[in-house]
Amino acid sequence: MSSKTKDQIIYLDNNATTQVDPAVFEEMLPWLRDEYGNPSSAYSLGKHAAKALETARDRVAHLIGCESREVLFTSCGSESINSAIRSALLIDPDKQHIITSSVEHSATQKLCDHLAKRGYEITWLPVDHDGNIDLEKLEKAIRPDTAIVSLLWANNETGVLFPVEKIAEICKRKHTLLHIDAVQAVGKVPMKISELPIHFLSLSGHKLHCPKGVGSLFISKKVRFTPWLIGGSQENNRRGGTQNVASIIGLGKAAELASHHIHEETTRVRKLRDRFEAAILEAVHGSSVNGDLIHRLPNTASIAFKGIESEAALMLLDEEHIYCSAGSACTTGSVHASHVLKAMGMSDTRARGSLRFSFGRFNTEKQIDRAIEIVPRVLEKVHRVSHSNSPVHMH
Ligand code: PLP
Repeated sequence: MSSKTKDQIIYLDNNATTQVDPAVFEEMLPWLRDEYGNPSSAYSLGKHAAKALETARDRVAHLIGCESREVLFTSCGSESINSAIRSALLIDPDKQHIITSSVEHSATQKLCDHLAKRGYEITWLPVDHDGNIDLEKLEKAIRPDTAIVSLLWANNETGVLFPVEKIAEICKRKHTLLHIDAVQAVGKVPMKISELPIHFLSLSGHKLHCPKGVGSLFISKKVRFTPWLIGGSQENNRRGGTQNVASIIGLGKAAELASHHIHEETTRVRKLRDRFEAAILEAVHGSSVNGDLIHRLPNTASIAFKGIESEAALMLLDEEHIYCSAGSACTTGSVHASHVLKAMGMSDTRARGSLRFSFGRFNTEKQIDRAIEIVPRVLEKVHRVSHSNSPVHMH
């Protein structure tokens, strides 16, 4: 990519992944070059790496507010989610019931589909039009044979926040294990896990300005855990396999920076999002926000546009170097509306006309000015092309 193109990019897809922070990159470099010791080796080169892993563990623990020994390093958020749910099922094989929601990330959704085919029973909690679950329904769904409740903290498509404190209280009252998929919430929502009765919590490095392929699972010191990945005695016997030292050290640095930037995330980034959202709603006739306007991440705007196909809009926005996500996915030649927007009761047409813009630490006011100017123009073009005979309603 030329540096001119790089300067033109307006990256509004921070829920998909994030740009690596230069400080994270710098912190990782020595561990890819000279510091090649295996953290399990007894000599100093190895011990040095083991010590650096512990610093990273402390930094992740500090970000989410738990003890360092409760932090397990994994390869990604999906692995963390799989490890938590599978451990709950293995620890107590008589419990064959799982509760989750209809708006989960595919890591949870597809794992539960997979488990359902193998005889486990899944309760899929519905959501209302705003993307909220009904806590009474959750409470009623918990049974003596419920192995685990697994729910999002923040939805990746709409940014809608589930009431984690209340969910945790219910699970505590009902003596049920609780896993929270906090992949989108960590670094954007202040949290102190030790104050909540949560048993497992998943996070992922690449949503936090760290490279892809590293994640973490919080495992409460109060629960039993059985490893999913069987091998050596790494990670205190909780995950076999030599650790991805450089990436874990990157995750530690990213966590330290996230602790530092969390206030900015909830103020400056929120202002960018709000300014962009208000301008787009004003400029594009018939557009509206998907999901709860109050209980949502400060960085996410999921907007439905009338009379457009989001996939077509993505292509034209790409030509302008603006990157965001569609409320639909193209698999094997056909376009499927997002399961999240569908679960919120939206029509296929509305879901397929929705775009998600997600903001982050590296977005600037100038980029937002340009996006506000370009996005309505591009949407008008998409609308015109797909409705060449009908009038265009943009202002
Ligand atoms: N959970 C949520 C809410 C996510 O947004 C994602 C990634 O998009 C994941 C889980 C999976 O994380 P990873 O890509 O690290 O496997």
